[in-house]
Amino acid sequence: MHRRALLALALAAPALARAQGASPLPVVASFSILGDMVRQIGGDQVAVHVIAGPDVDAHSFQPRPSDAQALRGAALVLRNGLGFDAWMDRLLNAAGAAPAAVTATEGIAARQIPDEDRDGHAHERKQEHEHEAGAPDPHAWQDLRHGQTYVRNIAAALQVADPARAAAFQRGAEAYLRRLATLDGWVRAQIATVPEARRKVVTSHDAFGYFGAAYGVRFLAPQGVSTESEPSAAQVAQLIRTLKREGITAVFLENMANPATLRRLAAEAGVKVQGRLYADALSPADGPAPTYEAMFRHNLGLLVPAMRGAG
Ligand code: ZN
Repeated sequence: MHRRALLALALAAPALARAQGASPLPVVASFSILGDMVRQIGGDQVAVHVIAGPDVDAHSFQPRPSDAQALRGAALVLRNGLGFDAWMDRLLNAAGAAPAAVTATEGIAARQIPDEDRDGHAHERKQEHEHEAGAPDPHAWQDLRHGQTYVRNIAAALQVADPARAAAFQRGAEAYLRRLATLDGWVRAQIATVPEARRKVVTSHDAFGYFGAAYGVRFLAPQGVSTESEPSAAQVAQLIRTLKREGITAVFLENMANPATLRRLAAEAGVKVQGRLYADALSPADGPAPTYEAMFRHNLGLLVPAMRGAG
């Protein structure tokens, strides 16, 4: 074949391969949990690029120029929404020719951040944290029923982006939804083994509001719903009093948050830190929570014995 014809063929190859269904659909996800959900639905039919990767705190994430580059080649862009990954707007602007982002929490009735959830002293905090009043809690994935809404939204977006693979995406989504429904039942059965009065947990920041509401566990945190604000000394002191008064033994760090405040709090309250919960990001592939499903199994494996007081 002529040299020039060969070159033309090579240049046309990726588009041709995609049309024939051989090349996976390029998808960009804002953070690791969304990235895993797309992979679970799409399998080898998708090539997923995650922007805020394993163990990365997406609240305070600073995108790099290479992230804008990844958006330019994407057929589908996914974000959580509810103010969690608002930096995606800046990134999409910087990228220019990227597709509009699909919001995975679309249709979910967002939980508002109730002030008393943090330390029981709403009146003190209201003045200090006015910027948080009435803001939506973005951590909807911590309720597996909401997780199923994420999956339906992602599957619908994949089908629009690549109609030729719609049936495959549908099959992938249905199998995944069945697993998540089973996992939701397992989580409830696990929590049911803990006496109601002991279902109390302290974590670094307010990532488990949806988990608490769905599964009947009360979570307390020195840091608010975003990891960007630091708790005051008065808030930490108040939480230590609550811990002692209620005999709370389930105190946890989070994989992507700064551990300093929580370690100090646990030391002053005389309790042991029971381990590391996966809250806003997954672990790397060789860690204990490389998938959304593994994250729940890992967290429950730590939470249940700690709440019982056996830790
Ligand atoms: Zn968070």
